[in-house]
Amino acid sequence: MGTSYEFACPSCGYEANVCGGPDTGALVSVKTVTCLACAELVDVVTARHEWPPSADAHRAIGACPHCEGSDSVPWGPRASGASLSDDEFYALQDYGPCPKCHASMGLKPDGVTMLWD
Ligand SMILES: [Zn+2]
Ligand SMILES: [Zn+2]
Repeated sequence: MGTSYEFACPSCGYEANVCGGPDTGALVSVKTVTCLACAELVDVVTARHEWPPSADAHRAIGACPHCEGSDSVPWGPRASGASLSDDEFYALQDYGPCPKCHASMGLKPDGVTMLWD
């Protein structure tokens, strides 16, 4: 079961709903990256666990869902492999740089988390 979060940039208002790091669900593993081609925070697929492959299995491992680019850098407080408890995660002030203006992204106050599979 994967969880995604609503992140927002306090400087330019950019928002993204992503996992904030590597995460594994029932069907796929993903990680959050900054796509360098389209300057968006996106979750890219890092591994597939489903069999037989689902209809969207043509989506390449590591490809940006917006532009299909694979030029990206890992994003998020767990990107380095650090393990954070939920309390530690929610207490962070700086989750990673905004892909638009490079300010520190924060978690939205209404902190909606979404279970994605
Ligand atoms: Zn920004
Ligand atoms: Zn992209």
